[in-house]
Amino acid sequence: MYTFKKSEQEWKEELSSEEYKVLRQCGTELPGTGKYYHHHEPGKYICVACGQVLFDSETKYSSGSGWPSFYDVISDSNVVLVEDNSLGMIRTEVKCSKCGGHLGHVFPDGPAPTHQRYCINSVAMGFIPRDSTDKK
Ligand code: FE
Repeated sequence: MYTFKKSEQEWKEELSSEEYKVLRQCGTELPGTGKYYHHHEPGKYICVACGQVLFDSETKYSSGSGWPSFYDVISDSNVVLVEDNSLGMIRTEVKCSKCGGHLGHVFPDGPAPTHQRYCINSVAMGFIPRDSTDKK
């Protein structure tokens, strides 16, 4: 299903231990600690494991949750949404559609126009600053 594949051993070797815990073991970084929580530069957020673009800074907002929050994805096809019944809650998990890495969860309490809140771990992402000559 995922076009960007690695063995479990390769993931372990190529990701940091924090990245591995979140991306491959559905971990969650501690709230308020992530490097992109208070990050407001213009640009695009990518999957740190495979480089796929995920979110644009224009859809990032301050949710107060402790994790970077976005009200939309760059393209619906770049993520996979999976029902997650762990921890006694019904949540929707957000995974990268290219490598299957766990990114976070999406909740239906975001702002207009989508009313979605993609609650994403900083450690699962990288950032590409917008070039001043790049219009979008
Ligand atoms: Fe990925």
